[in-house]
Amino acid sequence: MNTRFHVPTKVFGTRRSRGEQPDASAGKTVTPAILTGTDPVLIDPMLNDSPGKSSSYLIPGSRNILIDPGSANAAPRVIEALRSRKLRVDLILLTHIHPDAAAGAGIIARHFPKAEIAAPAGATERLADPSALVSDMKKVYGEKVETIYGHPAPIDAVRISAVEDGDSFDLGDRSIAAISSPGHTAAHMSFFDPETSSLFCGDALGVQVPGSSVVRPSTPPWDFSLEDSLASIEKLSRLGADTVYLAHYGAARPGPAEIFTRASNALKSWHRSFLKKLEQTDSDEDLSRQFNACLEASLEPIAPSVRRDLEVVSPAWLNLAGLNAEQARLSGRLSDAA
Ligand SMILES: [Zn+2]
Repeated sequence: MNTRFHVPTKVFGTRRSRGEQPDASAGKTVTPAILTGTDPVLIDPMLNDSPGKSSSYLIPGSRNILIDPGSANAAPRVIEALRSRKLRVDLILLTHIHPDAAAGAGIIARHFPKAEIAAPAGATERLADPSALVSDMKKVYGEKVETIYGHPAPIDAVRISAVEDGDSFDLGDRSIAAISSPGHTAAHMSFFDPETSSLFCGDALGVQVPGSSVVRPSTPPWDFSLEDSLASIEKLSRLGADTVYLAHYGAARPGPAEIFTRASNALKSWHRSFLKKLEQTDSDEDLSRQFNACLEASLEPIAPSVRRDLEVVSPAWLNLAGLNAEQARLSGRLSDAA
């Protein structure tokens, strides 16, 4: 999950920089997202004004599929980039509805009025009436959340369908399979394209940033589950995908032979560190203070710039809040619905 999505800059009365296009609908100037590759097309809306932090994917076919459109703030950038390549969206697939992955779905759906939207069962209601999504977002990020991710637009319920494990989506020349992969959050799907042997796994494995093959776990509130996460990683590893695409960022490194083991080991290591610190202190403040250093120590050595980028994409405080929420839930102190 991201914490600081770039808020598109309004440019009034100044020269536009290269690549910026006017967004006639909003009366603003929008820098298009960066598109790379052809199958899939990786869409980078440039978190914090820099590339390499967050990715959406477009799978081309007789029907084009957009996986995880991104935040509401990023949506104009994504739309601008798709428009510049004359790429239509026929189906929006959501791996899950955290705001960095899904808050922009309504804005993109408005731009492509014939597009259908499919999200994990249990998450679809929040797309039709995003007030619950906004309320959840505020619980985690506070009132500033709409500055970070933007305000989600509602989607007409008739356009939304629930995705179940084993569903498939027909693109005409291929079909995409849905695989339930809970853990990062309870309602989480991954999508497998057998034509290119590509797996799009959202945040199920954790996050990576360019320049490193370290996988950082992503354990956000409120319904992270260690047990489900580890089971999902194992399940996804058995698909035999040639390429694994992460929501953060791009194709997983060093590749499918190692990525699942790395993700699983990193998650177990983080969780062990968390439990150890939890035993040593009763103070939330102490736990929080020690957690970052402890978790960093459990990762492989990484360059300071990579550490900074990982912290932007999957911050320690957010992971700690998710681990605490799970622990409280398991000990009966917090209901699943909290
Ligand atoms: Zn997420």
